[in-house]
Amino acid sequence: MPPATESDSLSALEALRREVEACTLCDLHKTRTRAVFGEGDPRARLMFVGEAPGYHEDQQGRPFVGAAGKLLEELLGAIGLTREQVFIANVLKSRPPNNRDPQPGEIEACQPYLWRQIALIEPRVICTLGNFATKLLSGDPITGITKVHGKPQRRELGGHAVTLYPIFHPAAALYTPAMLTTLREDFARLPALLADESVAEPVVPPSAAEPVVSPSAAEPPSSAEPVVPPSAAEPAVSPSVAEQLGLF
Ligand code: SF4
Repeated sequence: MPPATESDSLSALEALRREVEACTLCDLHKTRTRAVFGEGDPRARLMFVGEAPGYHEDQQGRPFVGAAGKLLEELLGAIGLTREQVFIANVLKSRPPNNRDPQPGEIEACQPYLWRQIALIEPRVICTLGNFATKLLSGDPITGITKVHGKPQRRELGGHAVTLYPIFHPAAALYTPAMLTTLREDFARLPALLADESVAEPVVPPSAAEPVVSPSAAEPPSSAEPVVPPSAAEPAVSPSVAEQLGLF
């Protein structure tokens, strides 16, 4: 249950931040520089959920601060919003080494933090960026982002009804012009969704979504996602890496 008042909710979110920053629940804590809790308006109506911190995010302890972050800010600006007016988080709060794909056990360990963030922030629209966030929050570990992007879905997440809106990950779109065009088109629908969430499709009862009570009930993303080969000195996402990140 969310806290009773807004003040309680803000305190709970700060307590959760401290919990995440000290978390050692999976091995990623051994290799991260800083955990990345997420940031933005703690009462945002629009929340973005990406995959995991990258190099720059790990260094700064902030989400989406690299090239993908700049694109996200540009896309937000095009619909009259700033990043301070939304909340930005990731499925994983610690960076996987060399930007490899999140592993099922890591998602299993980390996802309760995301569910608790959603319960406390109570966004009306959650925009999932790429495959991992979309599969986790939709409760559908099979259907990829290329099939569901741009299609709003009604879901019960974090204890309340939200519009789930999957779109391509900005890191993937950075290097693929056609995907960037699609991302801009999908993004342009966000104001209408925020104004009228009823345009989303009715809830399809997800068998595994919303594991606030029982995190282990949620299906992890498909383990068949390709694995990014390790690259020792590669802070940015290259086209080939983006393609292999499971971002689309
Ligand atoms: S990825 Fe999540 S579960 Fe793993 S150490 Fe970081 S905060 Fe904890």
